[in-house]
Amino acid sequence: MEYMNKSLKEIHEALKNGNVTSADLIKESLEKSHQLQDKCNAFVTILDEAKPCEVTDDILSGIPYGVKDNYSTKGVLSTGSSNTLKDYVPFFTATAISNLQKHGAVMVNKTVLDEFGMGGTGTTGHTGIVKNPWDTSRMCAGSSAGSAAAVAAGVYPYATGSDTGDSIRKPAAYCGIVGYKPTYGMISRYGLFPFASSLDHCGVLARSVEDAALVTDAMKGQDHNDMTSWDSKDINLYQSLSADVKGKKLCYIKEICDIAMYPDAKPELKEHLANFRQVLQKCRDLGMKIEEVSVDHKLLEAMPSVYVVISCAEATSNMSNLTGFIFGPRADGEKYDEEMKNYRTKGFSPLIKRRFVIGSYVLQAQNKERYFHNAQRVRRLLVDKWNELFKTYDAVILPVGSGTAKPLAGSADMLDKRTQALEDHLQIGNFGGFPSITIPDGFISNLPVALNITGKCYDDINVLNIAYALEASMDYKGQTVGEVK
Ligand code: GLN
Repeated sequence: MEYMNKSLKEIHEALKNGNVTSADLIKESLEKSHQLQDKCNAFVTILDEAKPCEVTDDILSGIPYGVKDNYSTKGVLSTGSSNTLKDYVPFFTATAISNLQKHGAVMVNKTVLDEFGMGGTGTTGHTGIVKNPWDTSRMCAGSSAGSAAAVAAGVYPYATGSDTGDSIRKPAAYCGIVGYKPTYGMISRYGLFPFASSLDHCGVLARSVEDAALVTDAMKGQDHNDMTSWDSKDINLYQSLSADVKGKKLCYIKEICDIAMYPDAKPELKEHLANFRQVLQKCRDLGMKIEEVSVDHKLLEAMPSVYVVISCAEATSNMSNLTGFIFGPRADGEKYDEEMKNYRTKGFSPLIKRRFVIGSYVLQAQNKERYFHNAQRVRRLLVDKWNELFKTYDAVILPVGSGTAKPLAGSADMLDKRTQALEDHLQIGNFGGFPSITIPDGFISNLPVALNITGKCYDDINVLNIAYALEASMDYKGQTVGEVK
């Protein structure tokens, strides 16, 4: 009997009834980890020595899960999927993970990401490319690639992720599972390797909205080690789940969803957007009001540039501590500056270095006003625009990306200006710190596609409920790869 492909509640019940033990679950999860490692290369570390946890009334207790390798885990290798930290073993655990441990959750592996979260393909980690379990010639997207692959393959019911631009929600979409990033600061970032602090969010990849809610309840909470975290004691996401969404108002953005915007659309994009139209009908059937709104194309087009400028600037600053002196292997050199230069030159991949060059450039005194400050102003315009929408609408609903997971071959050359707004709109969730969730909404040629729901800050319950109701109405839910009919 397999359990790791089931929901948290089902597994918990089996544990409570004595049908299975925590040790059995760990064994199953580790076996599947090794199988998936051979197939998809999803893990930096598999913790074969993981120990069972006492099973209590806590739904997470005794159940295995995975941790993205940019979360610090005491005594366990934490590399950020970078050569610069390939041997780094932290002496403390990230708050989000120690919160899960307090609930009795059992970490069984550390998952591969794009180096330090800086990528969207799952191909830039120092341990190699992560393949999509639905079709190994395709990518998982990134950066939470290993977490997405593992949850989709039924290694365990959930894994942690981090999201700076879309890093939870895009891989979830490509792997046919749920990806949820709560409001900025709901989960402490203490111990998450910082990429771009004003955009970084912790979150979860799971196979259902209910599981995502349960896990987030356990991860969240105010933390004195993260001054941006806030008190959410009064919020219980799981207990607040309700599929009664009658009367809620949603909008979608014409400039992103209208097929007329893509004169030379490929059949897959046509199908993806047609599928999205059907989802809108499902929303209506559930009693929600759906309206089309327009957002200035120029503003939408500015999104990726704003993201690049702000994220690269913050990354350059955050990662200036990676010198080889405090963490990581010390490099050769006559003097300290030479050691540092060698460490950074050899350690970082070219992709990351390019981002540091951009970050340093936009922060230089003579460029700062033109690039960095202007990017911050446009970020404000975008966030104001979405907040204006949230005055009328409970949430914005949009398709994720331009279709299914992209092939790994040629992944470096995949930028298509025409569909950029479709690919990049998830970044608004990070600009505004908005709660944002991606759920599967169908299949095209046997590969999953997804939609996203984003709401206003602190309105996580509303966002989850819309997703919960819609999920129940779908033919496809976040099933594991092996379960597809
Ligand atoms: N794909 C985006 C990037 O490359 C987002 C990454 C993320 O959210 N961590 O920066």
